[in-house]
Amino acid sequence: MAEIPAAVERFQELLRIPTVSHADEGEIDTDAFDAFLAALIRLYPQTHSTLEREVVAGHSLLYRWRGAESARPLVLMAHLDVVPVVEAEWTHPPFGADIVGDGEDAELHARGAIDDKGSLVAILEAVEQLVADGFAPARDVYLSFGHNEETAGDGAQEIVRLLEERGIGPGLVLDEGGAVVDGVVPGVAVPTAMVGVAERGVMTAHLTAREGGGHASTPPATPATVRLARAIARLHRRPFPTRVAPPVRAMFATLAPHAPQPLRWVFGNLAITGPLLAAVFPRLGPEMNALVRTTAVATELSGAPGENVLATTARASINIRLLTGDTVASATAHVRRAVADPAVEIEVRHGSDPSPVSPWQGEPWRRIATAVADTLGDDVITTPYIQLGASDSRWFTRVSSHVYRFTPFHLTRAERDALHSHNERIRVAVWLRGIGFYRALIRAS
Ligand SMILES: [Zn+2]
Repeated sequence: MAEIPAAVERFQELLRIPTVSHADEGEIDTDAFDAFLAALIRLYPQTHSTLEREVVAGHSLLYRWRGAESARPLVLMAHLDVVPVVEAEWTHPPFGADIVGDGEDAELHARGAIDDKGSLVAILEAVEQLVADGFAPARDVYLSFGHNEETAGDGAQEIVRLLEERGIGPGLVLDEGGAVVDGVVPGVAVPTAMVGVAERGVMTAHLTAREGGGHASTPPATPATVRLARAIARLHRRPFPTRVAPPVRAMFATLAPHAPQPLRWVFGNLAITGPLLAAVFPRLGPEMNALVRTTAVATELSGAPGENVLATTARASINIRLLTGDTVASATAHVRRAVADPAVEIEVRHGSDPSPVSPWQGEPWRRIATAVADTLGDDVITTPYIQLGASDSRWFTRVSSHVYRFTPFHLTRAERDALHSHNERIRVAVWLRGIGFYRALIRAS
């Protein structure tokens, strides 16, 4: 880029601080988190002289910008941790924040460029600009920045606990989530802002098959490993049933007028076509599949401790994402039926049901849709959907019935695929427009 805007330089500086989350707390570089918090204070002086700031649970941050009224505040969420990198896979250093290319196509390459420092820094840029402009919010604005969204998530949980204790009931909560995308629904060419009104639940089921033991030279008819493999294969062959949950139904209804015939008719008459759509969607790729059913996949596998030893215990972790309408209990029952083998133990660990569903009508929803149209393009259609991954916002459903998940960046398929993978990047022009979205949302609150 010929000349780098100051906002982008601040973004680069924050992307260069490796605030990497690890499930094993001993591996976390707390100095990086300290440095990140210190850099925020230095880079956003007006914000820090105007907003009240609390450090929560070690490195999470809660800011309060007092408005004329404290009831039904706006909460803007983001997280400051990023997932680990495999450096060798990256074309540009993951913590280098290099700018590649020029003009509208210039890209900023870094872990966290989208998820989720992209949002966090855009929010702070918006607030800093508004404070500098002398803007006074009509309602309180809170900024909630978790430090371990990618792992434990207890930073955000603690923030919610504080809000609850103080009797604060947000009128609108916005966290990371769907982006502005093209062609995500087959046949719909208009750009769509995918706003998550719910997110799927998460659970892990452990399947265990046991065996008396013995020597690998004289294996029994059905060793524990085979029993386990059969259970996994059965579960794979008997996926969860498909169905069109209400937010997905609303998504189709919203997009129907923008689809060509006969899709327009199909999307617009779901009472008739719903079951057909639900049956066809799994064939249109993993995202469409995940939108119409609970998904399950075997992740960790373990067996014998040595190559010439029979496994006395063979175990698999099944990662299950629960579609709105399913529960940990109903999913467990499905797994049991699919496996159909009483000798395979099924144990559920870390289960959480799908989130409540926020409305896609009413004033808070319109505030988001208006900010989208005003800042990201008046051709962009704002539509509800069910977020496929989990976010910190699920904790906020305890204190607010208007929790939405949207990242105000227009992203390509390739850019979305790089999340949690290598070569995460964002186009600079796209990121700068995101700042405008947060400004508009704050101004309207
Ligand atoms: Zn994230």
